[in-house]
Amino acid sequence: MIISKQKDKAELLRALEGQHKLFLVGCAACATACKAGGEEEVFQLQEWLVAEGREVTGSVVIEEACHIMRAARDLRQHQAAVSDADALLVMTCGAGIQSISANSEKRVVGALNSLFLGNVRRLGQYEEKCSLCGDCILNETAGICPVTTCAKGLLNGPCGGMEDGRCEADRDIDCAWMLIYERLTRQGRKGVFARVVPSKDWGHRSRPGRHRVR
Ligand code: SF4
Ligand code: SF4
Repeated sequence: MIISKQKDKAELLRALEGQHKLFLVGCAACATACKAGGEEEVFQLQEWLVAEGREVTGSVVIEEACHIMRAARDLRQHQAAVSDADALLVMTCGAGIQSISANSEKRVVGALNSLFLGNVRRLGQYEEKCSLCGDCILNETAGICPVTTCAKGLLNGPCGGMEDGRCEADRDIDCAWMLIYERLTRQGRKGVFARVVPSKDWGHRSRPGRHRVR
């Protein structure tokens, strides 16, 4: 899921300068799981805004704010409160914020910073394991991504800084390449070590990304 966290309040106040009446938008998917933009956080932000002298015209927590059509539908259901607001304050990832701005001519203010695509270890503890490179080599690396979990994103084995299996960038974490080597060895195969991997062609990750399944 997309890991996000709330911007600090001083930054938010700067972004909201001149905007007195606000309509709040949260997301019931990733932003709720991160405790950054679900029902509870929307309510808490509303309380804070009122204490700061702002008026909140209404709020909605959209099922999946990144779903452009659902965002449109949910905003329509709150049309009067949206129209009454000077700006929409959106507590979702960047994709969600853009769903909202695609569906409203109102000024849109993002309340969260989107951090990364994350795996959940437990509630509140997230780990980045994939950078969405568009050319996955996990089949050759025993299911461990060097692009993301090696601090240098190396593609052909460890750097010279690895020490006792620990990463030179952070001695508290295992070297990704040591983990890849050990797991491939346990599986009795060479995997990625059977070839020289060319530099990653980031062209596979065209921007802006578009994908149709049908
Ligand atoms: S190789 Fe690319 S697509 Fe595969 S896990 Fe790593 S970053 Fe993600
Ligand atoms: S020590 Fe290992 S994980 Fe750390 S940067 Fe070097 S190769 Fe990558």
